[in-house]
Amino acid sequence: MEWLMSMPKVELHAHLNGSIRDSTLLELARLLGEKGVIVFSDVEHVIMKNDRSLHEVFKLFDLIHILTTDHKTVTRITKEVVEDFASENVVYLELRTTPKRNDSIGMSKRSYMEAVVEGLRAVSAVDIDFAPHNTDGNPVNDMITNDICNGTTRKKIYVRLLLSIDRRETTEAAMETVKLALEMRDFGVLGIDLSGNPIVGEWSTFLPALEFAREQGLQITLHCGEVPNKKEINSMLDFLPQRVGHACFFQEEEWKKLKSSKIPVEICLTSNIRTNTISSIDIHHFANLYNSNHPLVLCTDDSGVFSTTVSKEYHLAASTFGLGKWEMFQLAKTAVGFIFADDGVKQDLEGIFDVAAKKLD
Ligand code: 5GP
Repeated sequence: MEWLMSMPKVELHAHLNGSIRDSTLLELARLLGEKGVIVFSDVEHVIMKNDRSLHEVFKLFDLIHILTTDHKTVTRITKEVVEDFASENVVYLELRTTPKRNDSIGMSKRSYMEAVVEGLRAVSAVDIDFAPHNTDGNPVNDMITNDICNGTTRKKIYVRLLLSIDRRETTEAAMETVKLALEMRDFGVLGIDLSGNPIVGEWSTFLPALEFAREQGLQITLHCGEVPNKKEINSMLDFLPQRVGHACFFQEEEWKKLKSSKIPVEICLTSNIRTNTISSIDIHHFANLYNSNHPLVLCTDDSGVFSTTVSKEYHLAASTFGLGKWEMFQLAKTAVGFIFADDGVKQDLEGIFDVAAKKLD
């Protein structure tokens, strides 16, 4: 496990509010309990519970959103989540979050995202690069690179953002998120994710916003096939997103389509097992995709909710499918090819992996 911790890793499927430390959630719940907003004893066991169905996971997210909905807390959790990923040698993180509007506390989708960016700025335990760079190598907005200790042996993490559309949203609300993503490109926003409870909403509701996002040059990843829904899975694959997440309920026709399109899959082993979308790890489609050389990347999904880390996901894959050090290293390295950031970042990451390869024994 130690070498998996020290190996550089790329995380491409992590939801901000799903990646919060238990200790932070409990602290926030206690505070809201003291204020009388919630009853702490009612929520403590919900936070600490380990096995949840997909349905229960979405109920937990509603609770988490009550705990985290103010700008200061959004900033705090962003900082902590980035520092946690960096501490296990994630060198590139694409962090996704659903911009939220809450009129009662003066929160707009934009101010929510500004609080997230504030959290990136507040990262202090490691060096962070979270803004796109010009061809001269300088950040587009030089106010937002927090290279506190450049050139030292401190850990460094690249962070880029994806804005999530929640499946409960309307076409208009989805379009608002896409427009916000476009406005925030200089703050490292690279694309759009479609997520939220997979039994809610229709593909046709989100399609206009996703098409607009694509026209405007944003990259797109879709939660696809978390429940059996052949029609939607096929529509999503026909849309040709840059990546898909999960791909659990695919049948022969969809596997064929996926493989011929070579769309990379974000694989979340623990999440799929905990939510029972895959009944047992040894029959997980990771093996089929890996053996057929299909592009894939191991991810956590919700490291807080599912008590996992990127290293644990690699360990689970290695131990279940009998993969060795070199294979795991190659798996981590190939993920660089599927990131949404520009070629400059890709080259930097390849350099990091090249250096690390020399230390592999
Ligand atoms: P947030 O976007 O609030 O930062 O992160 C939590 C949200 O991400 C959830 O409310 C949900 O919309 C989405 N999410 C997290 N995990 C999953 C998952 O496993 N499947 C789907 N479809 N959505 C998820």
